Parts: sequence; structure tokens; C-alpha cells
Amino acid sequence: MPLLEANGLSVTFGGLKALADVDLRIDTGELLAVIGPNGAGKSTLLNALTGLYKPSAGRVAFDGKDITGMRPDIIVRGGVGRIFQNGKLFRRLSVVENVMLGAAIAPAPAGSFASRRHAEAAWRDAALQMLERFGLASLATRSIDSLSYGNRRLVEMAKVLAGRPRLLLLDEPAAGLNLGEVEALMTRLRQLRADHDLTILLIEHNMSMVMRLAERIVVLNFGQKLAEGTPAEIQRDPRVLEAYLGTGYEHVEVQPD
Ligand code: ADP
Ligand code: MG
Repeated sequence: MPLLEANGLSVTFGGLKALADVDLRIDTGELLAVIGPNGAGKSTLLNALTGLYKPSAGRVAFDGKDITGMRPDIIVRGGVGRIFQNGKLFRRLSVVENVMLGAAIAPAPAGSFASRRHAEAAWRDAALQMLERFGLASLATRSIDSLSYGNRRLVEMAKVLAGRPRLLLLDEPAAGLNLGEVEALMTRLRQLRADHDLTILLIEHNMSMVMRLAERIVVLNFGQKLAEGTPAEIQRDPRVLEAYLGTGYEHVEVQPD
């Protein structure tokens, strides 16, 4: 059952076709990676899926409902969480306050939150719980400014997940992380999938991470879908090697772990 489905999706900027007639399907519970060179249209694809860019053609359906042209905040509240390539945290708020903003997105149980105080307490609980799961509880009262880059990225992830999305869209989450942080991120993603039945679309240049996590890979190039397949298929696809992975690409042994 597709959780998200895009058909013939196109986005143009002036004369530039940043996305050209792309079909995409993500099944419930799946981890789909989207890879491709810089400028291939990967972030544009996420923007078109989440209502930030208006597609010039094509449709997007989430959970069986047409969401084409809907406002981004409505799409987010419908269960689509997104991590941005450049980060979106409020630097002058504390860690827990930032994560509370994410928690406020989650649908409240009917009849709850008699008062604003009540709602805030619930958001705080949810935020602290999520920070705990990310091993960040001890940083709750710190300001974002005082965190390492790696921890900021983890706080962002906690913030989006506190909103209890069904689909998580990640735009280059490993960029700028060191090896240990990448491993920690991968462990966290695996755990989240196991615990929450989370469906994930991952955009990433770290090929070791992509090949080890993804069940299926879509390759974009010049706004078009160049290839689609399992990690093993993509790694030996001559078109992908030529356009993106390159001749020096070292094969990563793929083991579903
Ligand atoms: P990727 O994420 O794969 O690196 P992008 O989706 O960011 O690529 O960009 C795809 C193409 O669309 C690039 O040529 C980029 O310059 C262009 N582009 C993206 N966003 C805009 C925008 N808001 N206005 C004009 N051009 C854009
Ligand atoms: Mg991008």
C-alpha cells in the first residue's frame, strides 16, 4: 500500500525544469533513498511533496488523499515530518522548547487540553520523552547556540518526531556529521522504524549509509528519474555509475542489518 505517491511531478523556475515528470511511490514502513548529484532536484522534490513549491504539473497523494497544492502546515499536520537541509531550529530557545514546538503539531486526543497550561505541560512531557530517546535529556535546558553541530541535527530530528509523523522526509541528515555521529544516527533511525512503523524518505550523499539503510533507491539527475532499484541494482547500474557514483566508486557490501 503506497503511503505517498507522486505522479508526473514537475517544478519549473523560469525556464529551468528543476523537476521533470517524476513518478514516486513510498510504501508504508519502507525506507526509500533518493540520491543524485547536486542540483539534481532532490530538495525540490521534497518541497513539491510538502507544499512549499507548487508543482507545474502532476499530483501528490498521501495516505490515499490528494494533497496537491495544499498548504505546507496542513500537510505537516496530516503526518508528514520534514528535516531541512539547512536546519530549522530557533537558536535563542532552549533545546526542550524547540522540541515542544514539534510536539505541538501532533494531534491532541479529543477533549484534552482544557487550558493552555495543560497543553504546554503535555508538549513538555512529549518533548522530554523524545529527548530521552535521543540520549539528549541532559541538554534539555541548554540553548541551541551552545550545542555541537551534530547534536543540533539530532535535536531537529527529535523535534520533528515529537510531532508523531507517519512519513519522515530527511534532507541530507548526515551532512557535516563525523563517523561516530553517522553511526549513532543510523542506529536511531533503525530503532525509530522498528518502534513506530515509521516510513522514511532519505536524501543523502553518504553512500555507505544509503546502501546499508535503504530498501529501494531512486536516482535523480537533471530533474529526471535516472534509475530505480535495490541498493545492489543501483550500485552496478552503468547509468548511475556514470552520472553520479563515478568510476572510482567503491562497492559497499549490502547486508540488510
Ligand atoms: P539538489 O537538492 O538535488 O541538490 P535542488 O532541488 O536544490 O537540487 O535544485 C535543483 C535545481 O533547481 C538547481 O538547478 C537549483 O538551482 C534550482 N532551484 C532550486 N530551488 C530554486 C528556487 N527557489 N529558485 C530558482 N531555482 C531553484
Ligand atoms: Mg538539496
